[in-house]
Amino acid sequence: MKKIILLVILSFLFTACKEDTTMISEPPEKMEKAAEFSIIIHGGAGTILRENLSPENEALYKTTLEKAIKVGHRILKHGGSSLDAVEKTINVLEDSPIFNAGKGAVFTHEGTNEHDASIMDGSNLNAGASAGTKTVKNPINLARAVMEHSPHVMLSGTGAETFAKEQGLELVDPNYFYTEKRMKSLERVKASEKNKVASFYDEDIQNSKYGTVGCAALDKFGNLAAGTSTGGMTNKRWGRIGDAPIIGAGTYANNKTCAISSTGWGEYFIRGMVAYDISALMEYRELSLREAAKEVIQTKLKNLGGTGGIIGIDKKGNMVMEFNTAGMYRATMDETGALYVGIFKD
Ligand code: ASP
Repeated sequence: MKKIILLVILSFLFTACKEDTTMISEPPEKMEKAAEFSIIIHGGAGTILRENLSPENEALYKTTLEKAIKVGHRILKHGGSSLDAVEKTINVLEDSPIFNAGKGAVFTHEGTNEHDASIMDGSNLNAGASAGTKTVKNPINLARAVMEHSPHVMLSGTGAETFAKEQGLELVDPNYFYTEKRMKSLERVKASEKNKVASFYDEDIQNSKYGTVGCAALDKFGNLAAGTSTGGMTNKRWGRIGDAPIIGAGTYANNKTCAISSTGWGEYFIRGMVAYDISALMEYRELSLREAAKEVIQTKLKNLGGTGGIIGIDKKGNMVMEFNTAGMYRATMDETGALYVGIFKD
């Protein structure tokens, strides 16, 4: 009898603790319906081919994406803000060594790690960004602090680190960001260096750079937010800053249109003002999110010579994952708890 009671209690606890999640194999891009809340993330776009990713690594990427998106989903489900969902989801990705952000950031030419991040609140067009920091553990938290506790939009380098310290954000020894995998990438790229400028655009750099992270979310109050965090590109130098901390290029959010986070070859995303361009096409030409994203990533960015992708959500909760590379680490979750995780083009 005792055993039966124990079994009943255990099965009750198991059901109660189980996540309200359904795994779906098709991306939910074809739903043109209003959602109460939804969340979408990326972990970088690039030459990500099935044959180059071991089953163990594929599983690791997928479980980490799932773990991250569930953090944001839980916040939204319980009535939290899209800004909180974006920040906390990105924290999980920044703390993982497998993505090019936070802990897993790529190395600069000098063998340091320099982080860029930004966040935007679609309800009031407030935004915050930080560039080139070396000791801030979670750069997205700094971006948010810049937005909420400073009169500025973007802070850089040592000034940004002083501000982070004043804000009580966690600072770490730069060695915290050392990972063997990223150091090997730098060594490989340097070994194949033909001349200083051309090397930055080498195929090898393109192949070893992906892993930037980003998130966009719609909360129950109809507020959109987006954020992006990255280590930039392997072998970058001269204090190079990419698109990730540039509002309008790497990140954009506007309750009237959409929330976007970009990943890819930053110089082209800056020239194309990719994230804002998608919002502008929606606002001024009344394109849908999917149409606008397709136009910008598959036509405009491609014609410029740029590679990469974006994730986005519109004000109705429709989601899009558009990229012109072989793959993009990505995941979505809507109000029903339907989870989609994808890596390759299919
Ligand atoms: N966009 C980032 C940069 O150019 C890199 C990336 O997304 O992989 O810094």
